[in-house]
Amino acid sequence: MKIVKITTHLVSVPVEEKSAWVSSLGRAVKRDCLIVEMETDTGIVGIGECYHGSSPLSLDRLVQKVLAPVLMGKNPLNWELNKSLLIKRAKLMGPFGLITMAVAGLEIAMLDIVGKHLGAPIYQVLGGFREWAPVYVGGLCLGWKDVDDLCAEAKKYVEQGFKAMKLRMGRGYERDVDSVRRVRETVGPDIRLMVDVNQGYSDRDAMKIIKKYEECDLFWLEEPVPHDKLAIMARLRAMSPVNLAAGENSFTLGDFKRVLDAGAVDIIQPDACKIGGIGDMRKVAVLAESHQIEVHPHIIGTSIALAAALQFVGTIPNAGMIEWDNSEGNLFRDGIIKDSYEIADGQIKIPSAPGLGVEVDYDFLKEYPYVDGPCYV
Ligand SMILES: [Mg+2]
Repeated sequence: MKIVKITTHLVSVPVEEKSAWVSSLGRAVKRDCLIVEMETDTGIVGIGECYHGSSPLSLDRLVQKVLAPVLMGKNPLNWELNKSLLIKRAKLMGPFGLITMAVAGLEIAMLDIVGKHLGAPIYQVLGGFREWAPVYVGGLCLGWKDVDDLCAEAKKYVEQGFKAMKLRMGRGYERDVDSVRRVRETVGPDIRLMVDVNQGYSDRDAMKIIKKYEECDLFWLEEPVPHDKLAIMARLRAMSPVNLAAGENSFTLGDFKRVLDAGAVDIIQPDACKIGGIGDMRKVAVLAESHQIEVHPHIIGTSIALAAALQFVGTIPNAGMIEWDNSEGNLFRDGIIKDSYEIADGQIKIPSAPGLGVEVDYDFLKEYPYVDGPCYV
């Protein structure tokens, strides 16, 4: 089998103003993605997704002009070898960033082909461990808003049967403590609550607030301070039973090793579409397993990125929860694939069809061409 053609689809969808999501990243105005379509001489087509890296045009060019030619004529079953050739081709770019995002889309597409060729979902090709994974409401949900509205949103998810959810904080000590307390009162003691600050606290605020979050029985505090402040993270971790979570801004195996060796996290959150794909996620999982740490994948892309994360957690023993963007009118969840995910009793089913297990809607890709400008303003 040979790879004969690689096409990229750069897509933007609007975030409706009435449901505009705000966090320490800014106000979301649109979502971008770069989808990779890989054709073979057998007729099998693979799909992958790259995280857009806030620079989707450069990423698209990198995939099309620099990396795709390396894979022409190669056998996708040799995906690890092919990946090493991609990294070698772009070695002078440095070890991570756009390069690992670009490689991710290509790797995921190759693994989709491998699964389709063998007639099995990726998680079973790589060693099946589970068929369902616990899920939590995150993504563009539960952003910065009036506390009554935040509580109403949280209540809605409890009524829908979700058992865990993540709030966005970072608006200041008093406001954050009040919001998390009120949400805890609203959802009751049996719901897992997490907080993501997207690196928004000062060291002092983080140390002060973690004690308050402890009183709210917070399950994890995500990126309270800039992601490379490992000593502060380790100190926070030592002073509170609240789990410390991070990893979406780590890229290389060396990065993850430093985070884990520093004792900076209880939970590690690599992103398949940022770090080079499913194979690299599995390497991080092995590192994490050596520290008895759970891997809760970071996901911010479309339902294709979600499928990649699910196929990954299907293969490892130390997997945690999957982030589910439950926001209304989310086209990257509902429009881009023809299938829909099965969620029941706080768990999401790992797609069991061959490869990634999802079917892309190519009409959708044409309907939403790329729109210039940043995703957050
Ligand atoms: Mg985060």
